[in-house]
Amino acid sequence: MNFRYVNCHTHIFNVKCAPDRFIGLPVARLLANNRTALTALDALMRVGEVLPVLRTGTRESIEKMRSFLTIGTNRSQEGVFELLRSNYAFGPISHVTLTLNMDHMGAGKANIPFSTQLSQVADLKITYKEDMIPFVSIDPRAGSPDQLLALVKDCMERKAFGGIKMYPPLGFYPFDPRLEKVYAYAQEYGVPVLTHVSKGGIFYQGEHMPLDFLEPLTFGGERARHTTVEGEEGEEMNFRDDLRDTRRFLGKTWGKGRRNEAFKLHFSNPTNYHIVLKKFPRLKLCMAHFGGDDAISQYIDDEKAGRKDPLNWHHVICEILKAYPNTYADVSYALWRAKVWPRMSACIDKPQAGQRDISDRILFGTDYYMTIQEESEVNLVNNFRKAIGNERFKKIAVDNPRQFLENRVPLIYGTIH
Ligand SMILES: [Zn+2]
Repeated sequence: MNFRYVNCHTHIFNVKCAPDRFIGLPVARLLANNRTALTALDALMRVGEVLPVLRTGTRESIEKMRSFLTIGTNRSQEGVFELLRSNYAFGPISHVTLTLNMDHMGAGKANIPFSTQLSQVADLKITYKEDMIPFVSIDPRAGSPDQLLALVKDCMERKAFGGIKMYPPLGFYPFDPRLEKVYAYAQEYGVPVLTHVSKGGIFYQGEHMPLDFLEPLTFGGERARHTTVEGEEGEEMNFRDDLRDTRRFLGKTWGKGRRNEAFKLHFSNPTNYHIVLKKFPRLKLCMAHFGGDDAISQYIDDEKAGRKDPLNWHHVICEILKAYPNTYADVSYALWRAKVWPRMSACIDKPQAGQRDISDRILFGTDYYMTIQEESEVNLVNNFRKAIGNERFKKIAVDNPRQFLENRVPLIYGTIH
């Protein structure tokens, strides 16, 4: 096979694909359709630079929104993809473009539904061939288990997609029984599944807290139980008390979204994958963001202090990588933070004697264009590449992705390359 770099984690959906309350603020739509308002916000931001009092959480969230909208506004998905490619002087390179179904996150209606986002990407795959590797976003609320499977098969077998994307904080557990058929297919044909595992990112914005959020079910319609990486089952999951606590807390603060922001951690928690992997131990699963830069940073501090937190998300993911040979982690988003680079390098290197090797399961990815709020794509990649060195970079951007992306799916219409 030809030498080719792969960025395993990018997004090209534009603001038209995102629902009204995507960023949690009602002005999003106004700004998206109004250049004057965007310019005004820009000016306000500059005032913020000189007025430290404005450096608050609110200012930060406005800035994030502005960064997101500046790229996503008035650009097609193709336009965003072209912009992404323009950052890469080295090559050849493929980009995994992760679609995202935001129809069920309780944040209102998007300008275009997920089906349109998806068909636009399928068209782009025909144009860009091996330069683009689209992943289809699967949400258990999007259809019956058979419909979900049919969608995956259509994308993989007829449209030459490269894998499946999941984003549990939008309001589902990865061990949802409705996903069983999709996992069985993915495991059988070696289809990669990439899932969001960090405490950051968007989340369910709905007003309702359905019973399956609080007392979740899993495969076979059984009540889900807390499970260890060794597969041992404990208590049934029950988040009712937790919900009461967050509601009490909410009474003293503001905004209904706060409740969901706390609750989303139950959906994102990497220990949820113990249940999935117990049932599908050969599943090719990438836990994106390696637990998040905050978890990695805490892990580094703990290590220095001689402590170990078994519940640290980065640690949990490392344990999963050691236990299941087809599991992966990508460095996307987290790679902006210089503090985590030595830890990334250590994971990419062969381990010391007596330790399990996870070096062939780390993937390069940036999370374009969510990362624009931290650093430009070109700086992000160059800084990281320089820090870890060319050899490690080649391992995570060429060798490991090749193994991750390889699948045995029968193409109904043959390859379109
Ligand atoms: Zn992402």
